[in-house]
Formats: sequence, C-alpha cells, structure tokens
Amino acid sequence: MNLRIPGPTPVPAEVAQAGAAEMVDHRGPEFAAIMERVTTGVKEVFQTKNDLAILTASGSGAMEAAVVNHISPGEEVIVVTVGEFGKRFLDLTNVYGARPIEVAFEAGEPADPNRIEEVVKANPQVQTVLVTHNETSTGITNPLKDIAKAVKGAGRFLIVDAISSLSSIPVEADAWDLDVVLSGSQKGWMVAPGLAFVSMSERSKEVQSKTTTPRFYLDLKRAVDSAARGQTPWTPAVSLFFQMDKAIELLKAEGMENVYARHHRHGERVRSGLQSLGLTLFAREGYRSDTVTAVLVPDGVDVANLRKVARSEFGLVLAGGQGPLASKLFRFGHLGYCTDEAVEDGLAAVAKTLEKLKS
Ligand SMILES: *Cc1c(COP(=O)(O)O)cnc(C)c1O
Repeated sequence: MNLRIPGPTPVPAEVAQAGAAEMVDHRGPEFAAIMERVTTGVKEVFQTKNDLAILTASGSGAMEAAVVNHISPGEEVIVVTVGEFGKRFLDLTNVYGARPIEVAFEAGEPADPNRIEEVVKANPQVQTVLVTHNETSTGITNPLKDIAKAVKGAGRFLIVDAISSLSSIPVEADAWDLDVVLSGSQKGWMVAPGLAFVSMSERSKEVQSKTTTPRFYLDLKRAVDSAARGQTPWTPAVSLFFQMDKAIELLKAEGMENVYARHHRHGERVRSGLQSLGLTLFAREGYRSDTVTAVLVPDGVDVANLRKVARSEFGLVLAGGQGPLASKLFRFGHLGYCTDEAVEDGLAAVAKTLEKLKS
C-alpha cells in the first residue's frame, strides 16, 4: 500500500528493524546512551539549545502537556485557529478551565500576523498565545516566523504545535524565540506513532513554576529532571527510542537542508500533478503546505467512495477531510519517508481513481 496520509507515515525498513532490537533496562546504561543521542538529535532538528522532553504519547499528549504545564485555571489565553488542530488547543484550554480568546481564520486561509498582533495588544492581560504551525486539516502552513515576531515582540509567551511540520519544514525554535514547541514521531520523523517532543525555553520554566493546573504523567519538569540522568520519569516506549535513534541517523545522512528541499519538491509536484488532473487545491496559494495537500473533491464525487476505490483498486491510501470539511476534501500526505516514486505512483493512482469514478 502507498500510505499517503499525513501521519502515521511510512517507516523505512531500517527504522522498523531497529525497533525490533532486544529490549533493554530503561534505567540502565544502554537506554541512557540512546536517550542522550535521541535528545541531542531532536534538539538539532528543532534548532534549539533549550530543554527537550520526550513523552510516550501521541502528538495530542504533547499538546496537553503544553497546556497543563503553562496555563492555569481561569487564565485568559489567545488561541489562533485555522482548522481542526487549532480547535484542539481551544478544546484543551477549555477542558482545563482556562478562558480562551479565539482568533479564528477561515478554513483554507493562513493566520494573519497583523490581526494576531492587534488581538494581543488589545488584551494586555493575556500572557500566552497558542498557534498551529502546519494545519494538517486544511493543508496550510502558517507564517510562523512573522506570528512569532508579533507575539514575542509584544512580550508574550508562545506555544507552537509544529507536530506536522518539524523535521519536514524548517522551524528555528531559538532564532524565532519560540517558547514551547511540539512534535510527534509519526509525522515527519519516519517513526511509528507513540513519542512526542516538547522543547521549552528558560521562560517556560518560570511559567511552569507558577502554573497551578495539576499534572502528573505529563509533568514537564519531571521529564527534564529525569532526562538529565538519561531517563524518563515513567517507562518509555523503548522500542520507539530505538527507531528514533535510527531515523535521526537517516535524517543526518540525508542532511536537513536536503530533507527540507525534498519536501518542498514533493509538495510542488503533488500540487501541480493534482491540479493538472483538474482538481482544485483547498489552501490559499503561497501558504500551501509541503507536508500535506488538501484537495476539494469534484462535484458529484463522494469522498468516502473516492478513498475506497483508490485504496482497493490502486493501493493508494488517502486521508479524508476532518470536522466540517469531512465530505469536502481528501488529503494527500507527502511528509516523512516519501520517495519520488511514491509521489508519482500516488498521482497516477488518483488519476486512475477519478477515471474509474467517471465511468
Ligand atoms: C497529527 C497532529 C496532531 C496530533 O495528533 P495525534 O493523533 O495525537 O498524534 C496535532 N497537531 C497537528 C497539526 C497534527 O498534524
């Protein structure tokens, strides 16, 4: 099967095999060495010298960790939303009793840094702003560097969901002064689902020490303190650390600049290939993601049926739309372990699927 969904993504054979290695003591020297290498490697990709926590959780676990460690009940926060994953931050802050002020942009549009700056300035009582870098549900990459300028320029604390961009699209955590940055193993990292990454600035520690929300499993201070001893507070997904160790080796061998260039090239190819089939891309031009492409289904075509035919007849696994866009879109993932051949085969399979649906 050609798995072209925006996560989980295909795992290279070498990475899968690495995960099959003999189990080790998670409090022993082998694990400490792997933990050290993986932490260093992930920090390089985040382009940060900040602390990094590696959680055994999916990406949403990292989002929850960001919220419970930095936001207190009753606190007003600003949540920027351009789609379903922005809404997840909204849900999370609500669940934990915070009072989110939503800055919403229409689906398919990017977040506008100027409008964010206006809302931030109009709300001096708000300390924290939460934003999605790459909105996987609509295929949008937000202008994070400019958003960070607006938020950090106003002296606020910035939490970034970079789950479906980090390791595929450049994110410069330190140069852009991002306080908390999140990613997850099953997106660009070429690893099975189950590990999540959280980097945190010096200021983050100060904010954590004042946050009154209870936390236990997702306590980031515990994670950072344990990491200093080459451990995690709780039993980690050891086999996924084995996979990460290998995947980082592969990313380094390719070179991050080449990894980013490959994602851009595949993004361009998928966009032009799908448009040449007469399809309409959903996201605003200029902000289209290099990790996932969202496509409007042609009139009269049922998304579920299109995905079913693509899968059963042509071996192509596509994602549907999410939330209110469920029946309007399909999504083609091109992040992580993705070859030119997988892109070409995927485009050819979409063409054949459309032909088949017409007849
Ligand atoms: C995948 C994803 C998440 C996390 O989803 P999980 O299923 O919990 O891993 C969060 N944000 C974005 C932008 C994502 O693409």
